[in-house]
Amino acid sequence: MATPRTVAFYTLGCKLNYSETSAIGRRFEQAGYGVTDFRQPADIYVINTCSVTDFADRKCRQVVRKALRRNPDAKVVVIGCYAQLKPQEIADIPGVDLVLGAAEKFRVLDYVEDLSKAPGKGLVEAGAVRQASTFVDAFSFGDRTRSFLKVQDGCNYKCTFCTIPQARGGSRSDTVPHVLENARHIAGLGVKEIVLTGVNIGDFGNGTEVIEGSRPQKEALFIDLIGALDEVKGIERFRISSIEPNLCTDAIIEFVAASRRFVPHFHMPLQSGNNKQLAQMRRRYRRELYAERVAKIKALMPHACIGLDVIVGFPGETEADFLESYRFIRELDVSYLHVFTYSERPNTPAAEMEGAVPMHLRRERNRMLTILSDKKKRAFYAAHQGQERKVLFEHSREAGRMSGFTDNYIKIDAPLKPGLINTIQPVRLGALRPDGVMESEMAVGA
Ligand code: SF4
Repeated sequence: MATPRTVAFYTLGCKLNYSETSAIGRRFEQAGYGVTDFRQPADIYVINTCSVTDFADRKCRQVVRKALRRNPDAKVVVIGCYAQLKPQEIADIPGVDLVLGAAEKFRVLDYVEDLSKAPGKGLVEAGAVRQASTFVDAFSFGDRTRSFLKVQDGCNYKCTFCTIPQARGGSRSDTVPHVLENARHIAGLGVKEIVLTGVNIGDFGNGTEVIEGSRPQKEALFIDLIGALDEVKGIERFRISSIEPNLCTDAIIEFVAASRRFVPHFHMPLQSGNNKQLAQMRRRYRRELYAERVAKIKALMPHACIGLDVIVGFPGETEADFLESYRFIRELDVSYLHVFTYSERPNTPAAEMEGAVPMHLRRERNRMLTILSDKKKRAFYAAHQGQERKVLFEHSREAGRMSGFTDNYIKIDAPLKPGLINTIQPVRLGALRPDGVMESEMAVGA
């Protein structure tokens, strides 16, 4: 019997990319391939790319070279956002054999079978992004304790700095019955926590919705989806990966506060604490709404974890603008920040805007907000010291240890008890370590 060919995957970017790589991996397995670790030699390497920053592009090129060092005869396939945005640029990378766009990536098996290791440019199959109008479901399994479940894709918003709509197409969603089916399937695999993921998941049910062979269900919105998911047996925790502030309605906040399985963790991109920048970014809210969301969440769930994304150095951001943004964020009762240095992306309105901020100032502003983020995270963790919270235990990279997150996203560390891995246990939160992780001990009776 012929030795099954092997395939290895490398994923860059977001939870959505991880869910899609995992789904594509299962398609290869069903076709008889052996899925192997990327650090091993393989017949085929599939690299799922991101394109949020220049760095992401550079990283893709590094990964291609790594793959070819492992097996110079391997076929190298590049998919994902960078592949949709700059297919020719990738095809020119020596050793790349196939570049697939957003609409083609799930049909990778149709292409690799006939792929030959041709010298010179790689084959490009990347149609216009509008062809990516079908919702293809996906979930991650196997590489983590938690599963990333894709419920929505694409975006209809037009934020002036963002290339995601060009890379992933218009907003489209799964149906509630199909998401429930996937969630039950994941529960059957023994997973305890599902992280709902997408591009603009609060827009669930709003965008175009075409999935293979199913009748569209226009009326179901995000609030309906999470209401239905809260009844799924076997999954102990659902986490909303990220939600736009204008879509994080009072109804959703009240639902999470009262729900049995949705954890008190809200990651809401703010992008700037200054309304002048929010207008130039073409965001669909002003900072006052953001502050209202935070106040509502904290009123109903004082222990809730709130994370925000913020961009520094957006064109036209003066020192005064930045300091106003900084002060606004400092006053917000949030738990951590993800700070991004603005980088010009081709074919975005912001890249044409005047008032480019010198890179050294962008870096300095990033440094200031990163320090603020650390202060906020430590204060949030310290406020829970001595409290009892439930933790989903996972393997730790440290020998003899295990780690995990509480429901409100506090990272803890504990001595390894193999039998507790992938279980949810009450722990008492102890000291906050210099590395920003909390010590913990099993709560009595755990
Ligand atoms: S909401 Fe804005 S930033 Fe987010 S994916 Fe859509 S266009 Fe990009």
